[in-house]
Amino acid sequence: MTETSKTPAADIAANFADIRARIAAAAEKWERSATDVELIAVSKRQSEDHLKAALGAGQTVFGENRVQEAQGKWPALKAAHRDIVLHLIGPLQSNKAKDAVALFDVIETVDRLKIAKALATEMLAANRQLPVYIQINTGKEDQKAGIFPEDADKFIQDCRDLGLNVIGLMCIPPVEEQPAPHFALLNKIAARNNLERLSMGMSADFETAVQFGATSVRVGTALFGTRDKT
Ligand SMILES: *Cc1c(COP(=O)(O)O)cnc(C)c1O
Repeated sequence: MTETSKTPAADIAANFADIRARIAAAAEKWERSATDVELIAVSKRQSEDHLKAALGAGQTVFGENRVQEAQGKWPALKAAHRDIVLHLIGPLQSNKAKDAVALFDVIETVDRLKIAKALATEMLAANRQLPVYIQINTGKEDQKAGIFPEDADKFIQDCRDLGLNVIGLMCIPPVEEQPAPHFALLNKIAARNNLERLSMGMSADFETAVQFGATSVRVGTALFGTRDKT
């Protein structure tokens, strides 16, 4: 075994079929429409072969957590496949805001005023008004990005006042806790702020996220296999 993981394209196609079926089954179980839950394929640290296998399996929505890494992988693929929708799902530094606005189609990780302002400025300059999500630190973890739940309402309003097109909330629950209460909390904060989109749920817990109203699930390893080391 080498450190670089390599999943054959046929396996990746089968994984996409399996995950889509599980999303549909979870949606049906909780009396939701499967078409209301979008699958974001998290392609960070996956090879170009893996990305092409996913595109071959009909996937168009992808998530990356680093601007610089995404800049090396996606411009050519986006030029060749105009329907690709790229989500930034990792922390953003303000000096990368311009690059992020140029490359990504959705920014899911607005988590402080400085970033919100930088994004508003760069979107205006580029005449590219991207939809954004606010990241909520539902577990109030020190090491994790995101707005604390009690500060969310004000921050959402501040972002709206800056002219950002806030469409939803995202969260990453603490690894050692049951995710359900975190998903329920995100749903509650979104509802009282009239936000329709909820990005929550990963490989281990996306079905629970569907139960609690996820409109996007962000799945990586269950689709592609283990990631390359950085
Ligand atoms: C890596 C990552 C994922 C996907 O995680 P898996 O466990 O591989 O499905 C989802 N969301 C974010 C923010 C990530 O960084």
